[in-house]
Amino acid sequence: MGEFEITKAGFLPNISENFGYFRQLAINQMEKKQYVSAASSLYNLNSCLGEEYLVTISTARYNQAIKNRSVYQCNHCTMLSKKIINKGEENESTKEIEIPTEILISEVKVFDVILPLIDSIIQKSNTMKIWICPECKKENEIDKTVPILPKTVNPFFYKVVWDCPIRLSGIGNKLGFNEKFQSWFDNFLQEINWQEVLYRKEYKNQHGFDMEESDFKDKGDRG
Ligand SMILES: [Zn+2]
Repeated sequence: MGEFEITKAGFLPNISENFGYFRQLAINQMEKKQYVSAASSLYNLNSCLGEEYLVTISTARYNQAIKNRSVYQCNHCTMLSKKIINKGEENESTKEIEIPTEILISEVKVFDVILPLIDSIIQKSNTMKIWICPECKKENEIDKTVPILPKTVNPFFYKVVWDCPIRLSGIGNKLGFNEKFQSWFDNFLQEINWQEVLYRKEYKNQHGFDMEESDFKDKGDRG
């Protein structure tokens, strides 16, 4: 037993062993289409992360997170954006790309402008709804703006996943269940993997060494 077995108060514990176990179990069970145990393995994997890094499971919260992330794109100006490639993977890297300026919908102010007579006849309305880009101060028409999810970060991690799909009886309900479950499983696992990356970073900050290293050092001939 090494000195690292003892977790200092307020320090993140080493979860790599449990984490590795439940992740492998989840993947194995998913391959065998053992949906119930695949889901419970993911729940166990998720709880390894502890309160601070836990991924929330809630359809309502997920929908809200999606909504809060939606943006409008300005038709007049562009911004430089960092695109993360292979996020959460070992070979994660960033690339700068130019995209239409994205503004969170919650930060956009919508105005009614009074149209000139000719336009109001064409549009069959006296007013038109516009929003002003905070970057270039130019007007964008609401009707010509489609809310999108930001392209800047791909994929974006929400720290929340929708509820596990339920398999109801009846042949109609079984159709497509595998795809639905697989999609939920993949999303949840990606979210957990990203939280693990953050966990490992913080662990290293606190302890001064990597979580895996200390695990191997201590494990010795155990197991
Ligand atoms: Zn603009």
